[in-house]
Amino acid sequence: MLTHASTRASRLLIVEDAAALADSLARGFRESGFRAQVSRTAADAKQKLHEEPPDAVVLDLGLPDLDGLELLIQLRAARVFVPILVLTARDAVRSRVEALDGGADDYLVKPFAFDELLARVRSLLRRAAAPRSGPINAARLSLRHGEPEIAVDGTVKRLSPREHALLEVLIRRLGETVSRRDLLREVFGYEFDPGTNVIDVHISHLRRKIARGGVEIETVRGFGYRLQVL
Ligand code: CA
Repeated sequence: MLTHASTRASRLLIVEDAAALADSLARGFRESGFRAQVSRTAADAKQKLHEEPPDAVVLDLGLPDLDGLELLIQLRAARVFVPILVLTARDAVRSRVEALDGGADDYLVKPFAFDELLARVRSLLRRAAAPRSGPINAARLSLRHGEPEIAVDGTVKRLSPREHALLEVLIRRLGETVSRRDLLREVFGYEFDPGTNVIDVHISHLRRKIARGGVEIETVRGFGYRLQVL
């Protein structure tokens, strides 16, 4: 099925200060049918995001004027919810967790094959273009699309993008136990267990936020989590 997004070239913003890499990425994306722009600084990226919002962003963490992670956090705080894939030369698990926790939708560690980046970006765009059919509900919770917010018994609360994604998976699979492995893959994009308590931290924040929603997130020890209507 053709979606609106597929009827025009997707706009991509590449935020990377290393000129040779940025130019070769932009060329690769253009040859693959994208409209690609390059920002070499965080300040320029902010301006372009404002003036001509792209459909997706490829963001390098090493930038001259502001750490890419800080830019990511600022954008999400400013309610800019464009899909963002982070490029990191730092292969430490910690920086991946920080990036995903900061609101990145995916990440790739340098060096990478262009085809892999292209596939990841296309996947982000498909996910963003997926049909959205109203809010999804469970008991007195109503999760909104597009904005990471939830109405809990009529009161709107702000969620982080990760909390939103996590809760969406749990609501869609209401009453089922969802494994940590599935949550790591679906919400964080991990194909591996980073061995951190990143999920547990989000779950504990979520529990507080949805406390009056008529549901409960149960811990299934050694396996995962299950959302139950009380
Ligand atoms: Ca860089």
